[in-house]
Amino acid sequence: MNTAAPALGKKPLKANECVQLYFDRAADQIGLDDSFRRLLKMPRREVTVEVPVEMDDGRLETLVGFRVQHNNARGPMKGGLRYHWDVDLDEVRALASLMTWKTALVNIPYGGAKGGICVDPRSLSRKEMERITRKFIDQIHEIVGPDKDIPAPDMGTNAEVMSWIRNQWEKYHGFNPACITGKPVEDYGARGREEATGRGCGILAFKLLKRLGRKPSDCSVAIQGFGNVGSHAAKFMHESEFKIHAVSDISGGYFNAEGLDIPDMLTYTIKNGSLEHYPSAEKISNEELLALDVNMLVPSAIGNAIREDNMHSIKAQVIIEGANNPIHPEADEYLYKNGVVVLPDILANAGGVTVSYFEWVQNRQYYSWDLNRVRQQLDSILSSAFEEVWQASNDFNVSLRTAAFILAIKRVKRATELGGF
Ligand code: NAD
Repeated sequence: MNTAAPALGKKPLKANECVQLYFDRAADQIGLDDSFRRLLKMPRREVTVEVPVEMDDGRLETLVGFRVQHNNARGPMKGGLRYHWDVDLDEVRALASLMTWKTALVNIPYGGAKGGICVDPRSLSRKEMERITRKFIDQIHEIVGPDKDIPAPDMGTNAEVMSWIRNQWEKYHGFNPACITGKPVEDYGARGREEATGRGCGILAFKLLKRLGRKPSDCSVAIQGFGNVGSHAAKFMHESEFKIHAVSDISGGYFNAEGLDIPDMLTYTIKNGSLEHYPSAEKISNEELLALDVNMLVPSAIGNAIREDNMHSIKAQVIIEGANNPIHPEADEYLYKNGVVVLPDILANAGGVTVSYFEWVQNRQYYSWDLNRVRQQLDSILSSAFEEVWQASNDFNVSLRTAAFILAIKRVKRATELGGF
């Protein structure tokens, strides 16, 4: 296996090559030797399974599911489960390694993993979704669990899916709600988990602005994606007096020069399932949203949203990566050279895994925290990680992304050395 990251400008990099490139930039800074690079880049285990499922109309459909377990030097592996038509092994591999660096960066006792099924969740009935989920767990239940690998929600999955997973996993292994996080609050979930990723983006945006000597009330924002991450980021930022001028979902973008009424849009989405036909805003495309003349962009939907072909149109000076891998490395380099400050995914969206950790802790203690405690601890963990990244970025004179990778790689390397080979 060739673990060297390819050079820029040869052919479009695949998702995992992008993460490896970011890894190598940081590894160069700390002089990480080749043997460690190979060890830390390579996943421990990759599993591809067939997911045969009977559809509502009686048809047999065979889907493909993946679970990649990247690294467990610091603890059980942790990472979401994505249902999306773009899911493939390379993407899951990339996302699994990002989880290793994310959990290390916020210093919670986990490694990294990720899973997914290649399917369009919009085309499924609730019952089909449940059958697919249960069948997938039948296929992977032996390699996941509270001390091995703990899944959580990601794109296309939600708290209800997590309940099905718990139930199916427990059929084999007995009661243990810590086998999965992101569950509904009434089913051993944690208060504040659902909002955590978006809220974390908001908290960190606030801290970053303060460092840049700016105020939220002077900061115009556009948010791509209005699902779990984007909608909660919008809610928190709206309540914190940021001026949100545009949000989008798969149906397109919605713009208002005076600022959007976010509470109204949240109510509309709950009622209608998406923002489609939302009346109180001008309709724009997702590409137009990214090119808006705003101070801050929060890409919170898909990977590769900002690429070589659209990077020149970006006008925002600050980007908060709510999504995983939303900026392609060519664009990342271009933005950095042009003074755009990018808060990287492994920090910006780490609020979700942080509160998943709180959920796991509560499940293991059969004890439930109140929302204030969750929010305070989340704030405290993200603030510490932010300050460390800011400091490392100054010390090494590198981007916030490279600084974040430096800190994470050092921690995983140290844990590997302490554990022995
Ligand atoms: P979600 O399924 O709840 O929402 C996704 C949103 O993106 C929806 O509004 C959808 O309409 C929109 N969308 C989909 N395709 C789009 C496109 N082509 N253009 C514009 N919008 C599009 O997913 P989520 O949980 O909010 O995850 C979003 C991103 O955040 C993913 O990259 C995910 O890996 C990352 N993330 C999520 C969590 C979490 O806790 N849910 C944690 C960390 C990172």
